[in-house]
Amino acid sequence: MRDLYIYNSLSSKKEKFVPNQQGHVGMYVCGPTVYSNVHVGNVRTFMSFDMVYRYLLHLGYKVRYVRNITDAGHLENDADDGEDRIAKKAHLEKIEPMEVVQRYTVDFHNTLNRFNFLTPSIEPTATGHIIEQIEIIKQILEKGFAYEVNGSVYFDVLKYNQENNYGELSGRKIEDLIHNTRTLDGQSDKKNPQDFALWKRADPQHIMRWPSPWGIGFPGWHLECTAMSTKYLGKNFDIHGGGMDLKFPHHECEIAQAEICNGNSPVNTWMHANMLTLNGQKMAKSTGNFILPNDFFTGESKHLSKSFSAGCVRFFILQAHYRSVLDFSNDALLASEKGYNKLMESIRILETLNSSLKTSDFNIEAWKESCYNAMNDDFNSPILIAELFSVVKFINQVKDGTSTVSKEDLDLITSTLNIFVFDVLGLQNMNQGANQYKEKLKDTVELLIKMRAEARINKDFELSDKIRIQLDEIGIQLKDSKDGTIFKID
Ligand code: AMP
Ligand code: ZN
Repeated sequence: MRDLYIYNSLSSKKEKFVPNQQGHVGMYVCGPTVYSNVHVGNVRTFMSFDMVYRYLLHLGYKVRYVRNITDAGHLENDADDGEDRIAKKAHLEKIEPMEVVQRYTVDFHNTLNRFNFLTPSIEPTATGHIIEQIEIIKQILEKGFAYEVNGSVYFDVLKYNQENNYGELSGRKIEDLIHNTRTLDGQSDKKNPQDFALWKRADPQHIMRWPSPWGIGFPGWHLECTAMSTKYLGKNFDIHGGGMDLKFPHHECEIAQAEICNGNSPVNTWMHANMLTLNGQKMAKSTGNFILPNDFFTGESKHLSKSFSAGCVRFFILQAHYRSVLDFSNDALLASEKGYNKLMESIRILETLNSSLKTSDFNIEAWKESCYNAMNDDFNSPILIAELFSVVKFINQVKDGTSTVSKEDLDLITSTLNIFVFDVLGLQNMNQGANQYKEKLKDTVELLIKMRAEARINKDFELSDKIRIQLDEIGIQLKDSKDGTIFKID
């Protein structure tokens, strides 16, 4: 297998990727909190990991890809305060929380399908793993790193930090955290403001509630990912991903929980995808600064001059490296559309090229290696796309007759483009689709020609003329010759 280097947020450097079990990869990605439609910022993060998943599969790994659904426990102020995001929506709309969950889980899946995502191997829900979460809390309590107050249980961050490094992932220092956080106002049950909830007592009006050894309540948000990743991938697994904004506190807390519960660091490679911004600000539901995927398809948004296809948006996103901030603009999207169409067009042209004895001025083998090198260097999709365009140029030269290509190299270009454009970048195979339609159209017109011929044999000239005239009206001309009828499409 080829050497793959991945930037590990924990060590802040690119490391050679060596999975725990040869040939197998366990990958966990924090999924959406399903209380609203996903915006295209969310789509960007999930797309980064869809690309990672696709490339690992292409390299031949057997990947168990777990991406959860947060359907409980994510409070308004990240993890510890305010109302549960889903319950709040249910309350506002006077529906069951599970109706909110269902609606936005369906939206999430539909959106990802439109962008041609692969489905993960397992998509577990927080509410489906309450028992596992309670078990973890019991263990952390037993080990003395959590405390119970009034039916809530909190993780003792200061105690943990005595022997561990709380902040190792995000680079934060506990002293700064202590310095920068407000002192508790007497309303909180926590010993220290840095502590985070493992279990929260449910007030009477809190609708999402479960029984526990500490009374009726609900789990803290950080806990679900520890419970589900451990259950499906084990105590130490290969890759954990999420958006950059989840590094702290969410992932930092995941590490602390797992360190205490399992006695080791849970993840070998932490990957964080960077943000999509709009007008220089992070796209976020809470600020209203976002674009919904559907806006692209309808074009109805003050941020867009026209509609755009899902393939074009996917191409736009993957033209940036997953660790770089990407700022959205209509102009940038228009430029991507040109590039995307050019790439797809060249794949269509490729099918029509004639091969020669020799390939001139282009080393296809070396080009293919450069495509792999780009992806092996921390999934560098912008470099990969630049490499793809070098072959686009060559394809056009062959078409114009200024270069030649051997049969062998033509096949190699086709198979390499299939790998990188369709399998790895996940751009839709519009070409295949278009060809399928072309075939169907041809069959349909031939059927009509046959029916017209039969009508003429039966002297039903009214019908035969009708077929010819109406086909002509939609731009399909029939021409009769001594060898039969042929057709031409405008
Ligand atoms: P949420 O449903 O808010 O938990 O977000 C789901 C995923 O989207 C998380 O991994 C976030 O880090 C990510 N995310 C949220 N906002 C953005 C953004 N503007 N750009 C990229 N990713 C984002
Ligand atoms: Zn998570």
